[in-house]
Amino acid sequence: MTSRVLPLSAEELLEAIAAEIMFCPRCRLSETRKKAVPGEGSAQSRIMLVGEGPGRNEDVEGRPFVGQAGKFLDALLTEAGLVRKEVFICNVVRCRPPENWEPLPDEIEACTPYLNRQIALIKPKMIVPLGKHSTAYMFSKAKLLFDNITKARGKFFKTKLWGMQITIFPTFHPAAALYNGEYKSQLVEDFRLLGKELVRIGFTKQ
Ligand code: URA
Repeated sequence: MTSRVLPLSAEELLEAIAAEIMFCPRCRLSETRKKAVPGEGSAQSRIMLVGEGPGRNEDVEGRPFVGQAGKFLDALLTEAGLVRKEVFICNVVRCRPPENWEPLPDEIEACTPYLNRQIALIKPKMIVPLGKHSTAYMFSKAKLLFDNITKARGKFFKTKLWGMQITIFPTFHPAAALYNGEYKSQLVEDFRLLGKELVRIGFTKQ
């Protein structure tokens, strides 16, 4: 009997990356995490959202954006005419920084090869970085100058990443809205604009 070797599907490859992340020893964050958070969503997603790093709830559950900021993110997705299962949600770093410190450059450097591989596999048309760390990272890959998130937010940047045409649409981190009402209304504004653009380019229906 001859055996046939079938190529792995995108879903299986995404699962394989997730399995690697779950046992990743690449930086100090692996020493204090409860669960790594590989990200979730379909391999067919045309939109990726990239946060900063898991918080307390995400660390316990191993899933991205399940705490307060996640509830608000769900409401923002609704503003854009989207639901969670249509998008892929992940973070710049996949293990919780203790006391929610901001991810350090060496932690970002150690972890982002996972993000790069997920992007290369999913081939999204639109990446929405949430907050300054993920925007700075995506801009560095797209060779765009990152000044600050307030200047970058709410604009569509057409870029070429790993040979693919990808639009980057940065906005604030949803957690910022939990302590500042102004960020909240600007986030809602940005997600409404995103929704209109998704309709215009035919990704979603009105
Ligand atoms: N904040 C993030 O940046 N990511 C999460 O997954 C949760 C909170």
